[in-house]
Amino acid sequence: MVRAFVSRYFFRLLGVFLLNVLYVLLTVFTFVMIEPFVKLLFRGTLEGLSPVSAFVMDKIAVLVPLDNLSRSMVVIIVCAVLLFFLRNLAAYGSQWVMAHVRSDFLYRLRNRLYDKMISLPLGYFTKQSRGDAVTRAVNDTQEVEYTVLTSIQKFLTDPVALICYLAFLFYIDYQLSLWAVLLMPVAFLIIGFLAHLLKRSSKTYRERLGVLLAHVEETLAGLRVIYGFNAQERAYRKFARLNQEFHQNQKKVYRQSYLANPLSEFLGVSSVMVVLVIGGTLVLSERSGLTAELFITYIALFTQIITPVSNISSAFADFRRGEAAMDRIREFLAIEDNVEDSADALPVEGFTRDIHFHDVSFSYSDANVLTHVDLTVPKGKTVALVGPSGAGKSTLADLLMRFYDVSGGEILLDGVPVSRYRVADYRRLFALVSQDVMLFHDTIYNNITLGCPATMAEVEEAAKAANIYDFVMSLPDGFHHVVGDRGVALSGGQRQRVSIARAVLRKAPVLVLDEATSAMDTESEMLVRQSVEALSKQHTVVMIAHRLSTVQHADCICVLDGGCVVEQGTHEELMARKGAYYQLVISS
Ligand code: ADP
Repeated sequence: MVRAFVSRYFFRLLGVFLLNVLYVLLTVFTFVMIEPFVKLLFRGTLEGLSPVSAFVMDKIAVLVPLDNLSRSMVVIIVCAVLLFFLRNLAAYGSQWVMAHVRSDFLYRLRNRLYDKMISLPLGYFTKQSRGDAVTRAVNDTQEVEYTVLTSIQKFLTDPVALICYLAFLFYIDYQLSLWAVLLMPVAFLIIGFLAHLLKRSSKTYRERLGVLLAHVEETLAGLRVIYGFNAQERAYRKFARLNQEFHQNQKKVYRQSYLANPLSEFLGVSSVMVVLVIGGTLVLSERSGLTAELFITYIALFTQIITPVSNISSAFADFRRGEAAMDRIREFLAIEDNVEDSADALPVEGFTRDIHFHDVSFSYSDANVLTHVDLTVPKGKTVALVGPSGAGKSTLADLLMRFYDVSGGEILLDGVPVSRYRVADYRRLFALVSQDVMLFHDTIYNNITLGCPATMAEVEEAAKAANIYDFVMSLPDGFHHVVGDRGVALSGGQRQRVSIARAVLRKAPVLVLDEATSAMDTESEMLVRQSVEALSKQHTVVMIAHRLSTVQHADCICVLDGGCVVEQGTHEELMARKGAYYQLVISS
């Protein structure tokens, strides 16, 4: 990820780097002005300056004559202010460029994560919660911004600053500077250890946050059940426990990361003390060339290296912390869909004859959920899947739409294995009406079109086919009525019919219908049934039936039990056979 980042923004990062070099050089020159100023103030002359200061003052004297003391002092101060202004301009310039780099990187990352989210394999949520996916997309991205990007920015500034300042300090007095350099590795080692601790605890921190958000998400989705079962107390207790675990871990992470700054500052100040003692001794002994004025410049510049040293070490700590978030994002982006196009995948030309399950077996993990299933869905016919809960009906429908690939056997579309076709093309053959109807907090019109271009006449026609038209027209805003979050403003039957209209509008040849298990009022149920019966005249329908009363008109009823097809035939044939279907009917 870091390599991709550097190569994408190479020229901008180079610009940031160059502006930072400029910033550091201007800082050094600002500090150079201290020596002439102090000399002027305490010794009343500009004679005997160190070579760098003498050089700078000579250049200034060419532009502005330095013929008296107070004029010289004003000129020195004005030059220092000017240099300071230019230095800050360079700093702002580099941040200005960096602002684009940071936000553009995050913008792209968020897009990639969302793109991944809408193509996640369905099986992903068998093991992971939705909250976890949201944490990765929102919080981990934010964490990368705070830590990784900030540390990259620091890496582009502070090493340059450190090298330039050190070079200048060595130039002023190498003996003294050797001491300063000796103290640095100690600081790096201590901070490095802290960084290691931080990475470990922040990984736990991110995981716990994911669990906490998952619980919040689940609570909001199941609010109705929580009220119905008076389970507020239980939900709250669980939240409080998760929150407590999160809080303990968060405290640890905060404390560890807050330690980085005071620790490095303390190490910095201690080294200033060492420098003061040694430098002071050198000045007092008058044996070396270090004058008091130069020593003051030295100290001023030396305090400047504390910031880059502490920044570099805290950047390491931040980077480690951010790595935990980056690892989680990388993991997420690397999830592969198990249903993928083969290299020579074909476009789907159409559906003319049948879809055939040939000796199909399937397992989610170890045990087979479907075993040796043989089933034909002829074009234009209605096939109903019945059987006890857990028999494998939904799994069979998921395989039909290729949400998963089969583990054994094959599914053939007009005699061609579906794995030979492009997934997106193949799925276009189907329109799904699922049991847990998902409506968005939007108008009925938008919920029916779901973004696919359609005229009002087409939407009305679909609504009529789904038996929802009259109800929609009775609403004050008609098709522009907003259905509330997840469609709470509609009854179960109305939601199901809106989703049937949605499926009809798609004009897909095959309708896959997962009948709602929750009880609907008789009128709603009758309206749904009527619309399904009407639709089955023009479409191929595969219906997962939870109520046997709805399947009597099906062309083929397929009875599943324990993942096997135990019987197939029409209602009359199966009743006459007095087998599994007959048993189901008389016991219902
Ligand atoms: P039905 O629709 O007939 O009630 P399903 O097809 O939903 O049955 O489930 C068949 C079996 O597969 C059940 O034992 C169920 O526990 C299991 N199952 C369903 N979905 C998953 C999944 N995503 N991961 C693992 N096992 C699953």
